[in-house]
Amino acid sequence: MIKGYEKELTSIYENIRVEEEKKLKKRRSEIEEKHPEILEMDNLIQKKSLNLAMSILKGLNELELKKLKEEITELRFKKYEALVASGYDQEYLTLNYRCHKCKDQGYIGNSKCSCYKSKLVSLYYKDSDLQDTLRVNNFNNFDLSLFANYRISDDKYTPRKI
Ligand SMILES: [Zn+2]
Repeated sequence: MIKGYEKELTSIYENIRVEEEKKLKKRRSEIEEKHPEILEMDNLIQKKSLNLAMSILKGLNELELKKLKEEITELRFKKYEALVASGYDQEYLTLNYRCHKCKDQGYIGNSKCSCYKSKLVSLYYKDSDLQDTLRVNNFNNFDLSLFANYRISDDKYTPRKI
């Protein structure tokens, strides 16, 4: 059952990531227009974070790395403050994940995330046309009388008995 849905699930996760990136882009251009100084801060944070990654690779000394990290933390804090002061959520310029556990990858390491499993189940039900049926008729209000109680041609049993 899982095999057939893997491809579909992969594209579902891809779509989620693309959608969220689009939304972030939109939020960024909104901030760029209304509060360019906040977006500048955000850009600077990204630049410094990239610098930090490069510096780690280059083997910059501990003290320099620490300084860079502190600068980024401080800038981030300032950005949050500025966003909140302007009436936004502090994560407004942060990529949103619908599942924080796997960051919308579906996997954590090599194991499937819980969101993957629930998506798989709903895909399965969707394909078997059961999703709506299940929503409307759980077994508590399942109405047996909906099934015809008469014999069809030469069938040995009425549908209800099957
Ligand atoms: Zn997940």
